[in-house]
Amino acid sequence: MPSHRQTSSPNFDDRGVAPIDLLLLHYTGMPTAEAALARLCDPASKVSAHYFIDLDGAVTQLVEENRRAWHAGAAFWAGARDINARSIGIELVNPGHEWGYADFPAAQIEALIELGTAITARYDIPAARILAHSDVAPARRQDPGERFPWARLAAEGLGWFEGALTDAVPGSALHEDLGHIGYDLTSVEDAVTAFQRHYCPHLIGTQSQGKASAETLATARALSAHVRAS
Ligand SMILES: [Zn+2]
Repeated sequence: MPSHRQTSSPNFDDRGVAPIDLLLLHYTGMPTAEAALARLCDPASKVSAHYFIDLDGAVTQLVEENRRAWHAGAAFWAGARDINARSIGIELVNPGHEWGYADFPAAQIEALIELGTAITARYDIPAARILAHSDVAPARRQDPGERFPWARLAAEGLGWFEGALTDAVPGSALHEDLGHIGYDLTSVEDAVTAFQRHYCPHLIGTQSQGKASAETLATARALSAHVRAS
């Protein structure tokens, strides 16, 4: 097991009264891990996260879980806008779309599964509230992106993923389902793309990106039903 380090970031404040009920995943989106860690600990940057996971799986805690780390920025989920107040944020080292988007190494994902499983158990966070930064800020963010292994996490009981649906569900209204799941519908196309990046990542970069394809409709309908039932 790689080391569990502690380095502190000054970029946090008090949580307030909201319960912790979201786990939010990010990529660092910088050329190197060192540069990303320096930025997350720089008081001038005003950004942070609770945890930072390097490519080799080494976990560094930057902010105590009972503090409000500054990772989501302007965001929205299921009626709430102060996403930092109610979430735990984890940054995964990856250059991101800007600097050479790469697959997430197995050791990094194993460490995330171990950490994420402990966090979701501690706060009883439901599977459909383990989210991408792009889910809560679809017009601004792409991270952790379509290479992130959501299906692998779901196989470990962490998050929700429905990979095998192909039939459209008659009568499904995509925007209603996305709204019910929690997405900001200011731009439906942005919301659809963010949904696909998380739940149908193989559609990113195809003609179906941002479109109500049969698979997108069916997957949104299934997740909406799951959220309704939970
Ligand atoms: Zn992010």
